Amino acid sequence: MSAYVGLGANLGDARVALAAAVQALAALPATRLAAVSSLYASAPVDAGGPDYFNAVACLQTTLAPLALLRALQAIETAAGRTRPYRNAPRTLDLDLLLYDAVQCADAELTLPHPRMMQRAFVVLPLAELAPERVSAAQRAAVAGQRIERVAPAPDWYSSKR
Ligand code: ADP
Ligand code: MG
Repeated sequence: MSAYVGLGANLGDARVALAAAVQALAALPATRLAAVSSLYASAPVDAGGPDYFNAVACLQTTLAPLALLRALQAIETAAGRTRPYRNAPRTLDLDLLLYDAVQCADAELTLPHPRMMQRAFVVLPLAELAPERVSAAQRAAVAGQRIERVAPAPDWYSSKR
């Protein structure tokens, strides 16, 4: 199955945290890291704090959606993520954006991620990896948000440099 994961961080060395998260995704069981977007910097949406670094990764996995979500949460926790209040700054946020064509709205997991298409920091990196899953109207809807592409893949996360 193809799963798309949104990565974000705006506390500590956020760029290093995202690179480490990519390596952690690549190390998940039953999972292969298929593609990673460029690295972006964006202003916080509905929140304060420093600018965010963001990216999207595509995984090929046989983990079920909920198992994958829990694996993502374990990576967040290992990176020191705490949730003092809603939309608080974070050391690492991993959102499950898409899982094949699965649609669900459970207590723990909603797919596709309900707010992803309102966020330039998801729409732009996702469009790099899966242009067929982002319409021109969806791109236009986030065109006013401040976001900057800061580094191409694989430069920003590769451990070989
Ligand atoms: P944020 O919306 O800021 O990313 P959190 O990362 O704290 O907030 O996630 C809040 C809750 O959202 C989690 O407890 C999780 O169970 C739920 N959730 C529902 N659908 C998804 C999804 N597709 N990806 C990630 N979390 C999800
Ligand atoms: Mg999240």
